[in-house]
This record gives sequence, C-alpha cells and structure tokens, in this order.
Amino acid sequence: MRKINTRDFRVATRSTSREINRRIALNVIHEHQPISRAELARRMKVTRGVAGVLVQELIDQDLIYEGATGEAAFGRKPTLLHIKSHDRLAVAVDIRFSKTYVMVCDFSGRQLAVEAYDTIFSMPELVRDLGQRIRRLAKAHGTKAGIEGVGVAVPGMVDQSTGRVLNAPALGWRDVELRKPLAVATGLPVEIENSGRACTLALLLLERSEAARPQNFVYVGVSDGVGVGVVVNGELLRGADHIAGEFAHVPLDLEGPRCMCGATGCWEAYISNLATLSRYFGWNLYKLSPNKLNSRKNGSFTVPDLITRARQGDAKALAAIQATARFLGLGLATIVNVINPECIYLDGEITAAWDLISKDVVDGLAERALTHKGGRTPIKVGSTQEYPRLRGAAALIAAPTFAAPRVA
Ligand SMILES: [Zn+2]
Repeated sequence: MRKINTRDFRVATRSTSREINRRIALNVIHEHQPISRAELARRMKVTRGVAGVLVQELIDQDLIYEGATGEAAFGRKPTLLHIKSHDRLAVAVDIRFSKTYVMVCDFSGRQLAVEAYDTIFSMPELVRDLGQRIRRLAKAHGTKAGIEGVGVAVPGMVDQSTGRVLNAPALGWRDVELRKPLAVATGLPVEIENSGRACTLALLLLERSEAARPQNFVYVGVSDGVGVGVVVNGELLRGADHIAGEFAHVPLDLEGPRCMCGATGCWEAYISNLATLSRYFGWNLYKLSPNKLNSRKNGSFTVPDLITRARQGDAKALAAIQATARFLGLGLATIVNVINPECIYLDGEITAAWDLISKDVVDGLAERALTHKGGRTPIKVGSTQEYPRLRGAAALIAAPTFAAPRVA
C-alpha cells in the first residue's frame, strides 16, 4: 500500500488515464511483441475498440509500428505490432576507472559502434574529449532521425535530477557538474546515473527475457568496484540523498583492507577485481592509500586471466577466486536481510567462473541469512549482454518511455 505524498504529487487530469493506459499498452506490446490488436485487447482486458485507439496513438507517437501479418483461424489476418527500436539511436557512455567506453546503439541495445580509451580524470578535459567523440560518432552513425540522447553511467553517487556527480571515489570526483557541460558539448540531451542503478533500470524496464519480471530484486555488478541497484515494488530505490543501495561500502570488518572510498573493510574491498587479484599476487591492501590502490588497478593481468589459470589447475588462482566468492555470499546475506528481494541478479567478470564459485557464494549467503528461505534466495548469474553497463547507460535514454507515469 502506497501513501499519497501530499508534498510531491501531480493531480490527475482528463488526459492522465489515457496516458496510463497508453503506457500499459506499450509495456504489454514490449513484453509480447509481435502481438495483434486482438491479443493486446485480451491481455489488457479492454474492448478491441479501446485497444485500437491506444494502438493508433502509439503509432502516431512513433513508439510502435505495424509489421507482418499473423495467422488467424478464420477471417482477416491480423497485423502484428512491434516496438520501434531499430531506427531509434542513443549514445551510451560507461566511465570506469581503467577505461571509458562509448557505444552507439539502437533502443534494443544493438551495437553500431563501440570504442574504448583510457579514462580522462580532469572534468573539463573529459567533457571536451567526450563531446568530440560523440559528435564524430553521431555524424558517422546517426540516421535521419539522429541520436536521441546520451546516457552516461558513472561509478559513484549521482543526483540524477540535476546531473551532478556527488561522489565517485574511484575517479576522485566530488560534487561535480557533468550533465550540463556534456549537453552543451554534444548538443544532445544527456542523462547521468550510477552504473549499478543504470544496469538495474535496464533490467527493470527493457529486458524481455522473463515475462514476469520480479517487482522486488537487487542487481549486483562486481568489477573495478561494486555497483548495486535495489528495486522495491517495481521502483528503483534512490533514497533521500541518492545513496540508497550502496551495499558496496557496508563494512564486513572495520579492521579490513583499504577501500577506494577511503574507509577500511567495506564489502567492495573484499570482492572487487582488485581484491581478488591482490589475494593471488599477495598485495597488501591494508596499508595502501586510495591513490596507490588506483595504480594497482592498471595492471594488465585481469580476473578473466586468473579464472583461466584456475581452470588450468593453478590451485592458488582457484583459492583466490573462491575466497572472493565466500565474501560475495556473506555480503549478499546483508542484502537479503535488509531488502529480502525475490531474487538477486549477479554480474561481472568473476561470474564467468560460476561453476567454480557458486557453492562458496551460496554457502556464504546461507551462513548469514536470517531465515532458511532467505538463504536460498535465487541468484541469477551473468548477463547475456557483452557490455552490461553500456546497456545500462543506453537504458537511461531508451527506458523512460516504458516507465509508469508519475501521478499522486
Ligand atoms: Zn568503501
């Protein structure tokens, strides 16, 4: 049951119910495409006439199109409806400590071009360089309709409404403006979001693989850092000051290793790719300053390399990833005990070794979860997407049309 917020609401007008029904139709088409008008009406439990009007409005808005005709037992063959995604383009940007990735893709996430280069840490320089790259890519790949916007995923806390990066420890950014200058440099609308939350939005609003997407789930991406997104009752949790869901910095042990955020013993400091590699190479992360941590991340040996060694019989490599797996499970127990999600989506390089680590993760979760059922919370591993964070960044532009309209 949701209380109406009397300080933040939009009064419903005559057009509101129409808009809500239109969004419902759009989402049903998205989930079941290609779909006929009759099938849409049946699924929406409305008359064919009502469905027909909504469909026409969505066609007029250029959000859906009529494709091939389907089969019918008798009478006229129905025209099937599809979401328009292939000729709508966005630019996705994933800014990470090591590299920045830029992709031109359509609204279904299909890549047209991807480039990667060393991340620039100075904000004015980054904006200038990124602006040039995006303008060049837009010129090379833009259709007549052009690029509709730029979505940027950042490893840190972001005020999504103002486009300011509040704190991105890995990049050394605190309270910096990114959206406005980038919008000026590219001449395109720009959306900025925390990378874990961007991936979560993509799962929540764009994925079609599971018809019944859970309404309560948590996304955990383990990589340079750890990105988390929390969805409660179908809504991404943001919190009063954009921090909600930062499980990465919940301490497992106050005396633990140094974290990028400057504190010690955070979950991230036990499970990030750097933490896993440091176990293998015997680096002491307890005494390093955050700057030194950064310099360690630039090595050419990666977690996928470590997994390869583990598979080749290197016992030390296997022990390193399994130790990470145990801490991963213990941290997931904290998430289960706080959020109690229906399931957890787990992403990141280390999940490629799921056959080697799943037992340690599941045991760690069961050890600290407060109920038996909580300890058995389903963990859905690995993304089918090659670049999950770029997909998340693209979702910042492509997904809003699928979101529920805000009323009351
Ligand atoms: Zn931390």
